[in-house]
Amino acid sequence: MASTSGEAAAEAETIPETAARLRAHFATGRTKPIPWRLEQLKGLDRMLREAGDELADALRADLGKAAPESFLSEIDFVAAEVRSLRKHLRSWLRPKRVYTPPHLQPARAYILREPLGLVTVIGPFNYPVQLLLAPLAGALACGNAVMVKPSEAANTTAVVLGRLIRQYLDPDAVAVVQGGPAQTAALLEERVDHIFFTGSPRVGKIVAKAAAEHLTPVTLELGGKSPAIVEPGADLAAAARRIAWAKFMNAGQTCIAPDYVIAVGGTGPELERELAEAVREMYGHAPAESPDYGRIIDERSFERLARFLGEGRLVCGGGHNRDERYIAPTVLADVSEKDAVMGEEVFGPVLPIVALETLDEAIAFVNEREKPLALYAFTGSDLSRRKLLTRTSSGAVGFNVAMAHIDVPGLPFGGVGHSGLGAYHGKASIETFSHAKSVLEKPLAPDTLRVVYPPFTAVKEQVLRRLR
Ligand code: NAD
Repeated sequence: MASTSGEAAAEAETIPETAARLRAHFATGRTKPIPWRLEQLKGLDRMLREAGDELADALRADLGKAAPESFLSEIDFVAAEVRSLRKHLRSWLRPKRVYTPPHLQPARAYILREPLGLVTVIGPFNYPVQLLLAPLAGALACGNAVMVKPSEAANTTAVVLGRLIRQYLDPDAVAVVQGGPAQTAALLEERVDHIFFTGSPRVGKIVAKAAAEHLTPVTLELGGKSPAIVEPGADLAAAARRIAWAKFMNAGQTCIAPDYVIAVGGTGPELERELAEAVREMYGHAPAESPDYGRIIDERSFERLARFLGEGRLVCGGGHNRDERYIAPTVLADVSEKDAVMGEEVFGPVLPIVALETLDEAIAFVNEREKPLALYAFTGSDLSRRKLLTRTSSGAVGFNVAMAHIDVPGLPFGGVGHSGLGAYHGKASIETFSHAKSVLEKPLAPDTLRVVYPPFTAVKEQVLRRLR
């Protein structure tokens, strides 16, 4: 099917028709050659360069994101991921020779990376460009056909992405499905070869159940409560700036934002002052007027977050405006474990502080909860770092820095336990979106395998034992 007819078909067809069309196209083998894959990655790169401003405008409309933030965390971020995939693709896909034991010699054993087939990618609202296109890039690099479903909550961006993807990528191999839970449910009924989902643990369970029906493998990039532990002796002003930056970017709607702070050993009062100061430095005295401060995605999320504002003791912020979906960067101290803000993922610009006496108590506090997507600790102590690495489990760890690990291309990005299953970015994307096929090649002659055929003689047994 020619590209233009593929585009026209995509407009009118149902989800089962889309899946069947893409599956049939994958079966032709046209997505498998490396030049086709590189062509798609080049298309993504061109899209990000030529339509970057349009995407930034859409992100501002949906989330009030400042353009520099959109380029940093979404558009240029994906461009870097695409560049890395293009640069390393051939070497990452090269068959990998492995050791062949002597009793099987002469022979060659190797691992081939083969495409999976048809892949479904479902995105969340908060980084709607990054979290749809970065997995898409990985799936295309591996030679798959892909159905992507952007989040309906970031609707302006979803519409722009739908048009751009049809324009810049092969429409016979990539289709955009638009819609909310109903369309996602329909999409999940299709039998595909992999489902890549980014979103909440609640919907992650729906995805995993639907995938189980067809035994489809899943990657689940979920969320949770990522702690930021602050120890005495750390530079509290610098720690506060780094925590505030990571927490209040995108108005707190970031999966790897510090969800709450644990102030260890009496660091609370100074940390409170420094956090309030950091917020003022970044967003001024009236964050509502700052062009750099974002908005809450929708009214339902606003209502959920507004509940937290009466809890604990207000350190700074607290202001809100329903009509503008604005919630000020807010820091709360003296929160209790019973407060709602400590009972669920905050996913907004409210930062509760829990005060504990020792690092051991902090570790116990973290371990009483679900395994977080990230754990941050601000400390100068090697011993504390070692304790945290060996006694807690999380998708990632950041020492003296929050959120920046996502920018290291060699680090797999993903959660553990309740915060997710599987990982991606760079080489990890190749591992996620391809099958590692084990191959053993052996000549028919000489038939060295005779030694393992019955009847077993004493000589054969001796030879086999020696070869093992
Ligand atoms: P969400 O789970 O509400 O929605 C994600 C996707 O699922 C959307 O495309 C939506 O249309 C679809 N969906 C929603 N309800 C559904 C249902 N009942 N049935 C089928 N599909 C449904 O998540 P969100 O609100 O867009 O994003 C916030 C969550 O995502 C947070 O928990 C956050 O931590 C997490 N997140 C994780 C990462 C990560 O990389 N690990 C990144 C961003 C966000």
